[in-house]
Amino acid sequence: TTTEPETEQTHPVDAVPDIAPKAAHPSHPGPLETAQVQLARAVERLGLDPGMHAMLATPRREINVAIPLRRDDGTTALFHGFRVQHNVSRGPGKGGLRFHPSVDVDEVRALAMWMTWKCAIVELPYGGAKGGVAIDPRQYSSAELERVTRRYTSEIMPMIGPERDIMAPDIGTDARTMAWVMDTYSVNQGYTIPGIVTGKPLEVGGSLGRATATSRGVVHSARAALREVGRDLRGVRVAVQGFGKVGSHASVFFAQAGAKVEAVSDQYGGVRREGGLDMARLVDHVRRTGSVVDFDAADPVDNADLLTLDVDMLVPAAVEGVITARNANEVKAEFVVEGANGPTTADADAMLTRRGVTVVPDILANAGGVVVSYFEWVQAQQAYWWSEQEIEQRLEQRMLQAYAAVAEVARREEVTLRDAAMLIGVERVATAHRTRGLYP
Ligand code: GLU
Repeated sequence: TTTEPETEQTHPVDAVPDIAPKAAHPSHPGPLETAQVQLARAVERLGLDPGMHAMLATPRREINVAIPLRRDDGTTALFHGFRVQHNVSRGPGKGGLRFHPSVDVDEVRALAMWMTWKCAIVELPYGGAKGGVAIDPRQYSSAELERVTRRYTSEIMPMIGPERDIMAPDIGTDARTMAWVMDTYSVNQGYTIPGIVTGKPLEVGGSLGRATATSRGVVHSARAALREVGRDLRGVRVAVQGFGKVGSHASVFFAQAGAKVEAVSDQYGGVRREGGLDMARLVDHVRRTGSVVDFDAADPVDNADLLTLDVDMLVPAAVEGVITARNANEVKAEFVVEGANGPTTADADAMLTRRGVTVVPDILANAGGVVVSYFEWVQAQQAYWWSEQEIEQRLEQRMLQAYAAVAEVARREEVTLRDAAMLIGVERVATAHRTRGLYP
């Protein structure tokens, strides 16, 4: 599956993309560097030319906005926000909006690129995009977050739309944030446009099953990975880093499937218990206290130690770059199922592979969220809503189909699941680009 050179391109870009990021420290590569290394491996294997490589490595469009906020106390604060459309060859840009203090343009670029491959792997008619605002949402009132969201939306308005670029929740944002984006966009256009965002509240056109979709997809892909070696989830010891939108539901679903969730953590710390945590009681504890910390009948464990616990399956479901060259050789799990985007650096990935660890990559493992986002968008465009059962069935079918396709390429090409997923995703995007041709 190599590609023909683009004959119409008379002046190919001969240098590899100039947006290659500078790593702050060799052992701390940033997410964009990880994403670029992954892309370069796929480009090489697919035999794509440097012009195509540059095209795939470079976002189509980026916007950088300043967001002034009138605080509740009358003072003013200023935030920086971004929206990056990495690729739109297969359809509108699609991807989340992140509110986190460490958001910067390179992180958003990496996340947008991963969305491109993810959407292609699960065969959604979307490109990839991502947005972010460098803000710690925990430090601001709901009214302040609403003003930030509305101002951000209004600043990026020319770039988004249900046929241009569709937002969804990510770290630090939720259904309520999406309702504000939808309202701001709709009011400015003069009528209600639910297709501008996914992950909305049900009352304004959200989809059943969206809130749990990423987690269900993680569990489907974990089950598929085990099935490859003739095992199932029963009795499998799991550690989950992150107890947010992805990790919390995934922990519950793992436990329901008979796995032993022996450790979980959130931004404040973690808890562990050999034999498995009582998920119902833990969920109740989190509801009451806002954190997994201090859950009784469990021992404390910190976020770093959780990654190297003696378990069968590790599910990083928090932020990027947590499995690095520093700790990869200490990971004891046989399976790493990436609920987060970009949790494993490229170096660490190679180290895990050398040690025979099966890594189910983010662009496959956590694709369930965007799959049901697509279902939500389709439902909104048709103004016709599906049953929860229909959504769960279609989600499982898409996830298993994508997993099987990736596993097949991995076997045939004798590469890792990540390389196989990248080969499929990159090839589909490159094909779309080639088929459309270059304008002018
Ligand atoms: N933020 C999620 C992700 O990283 C969901 C994106 C979406 O549904 O558009 O995949």
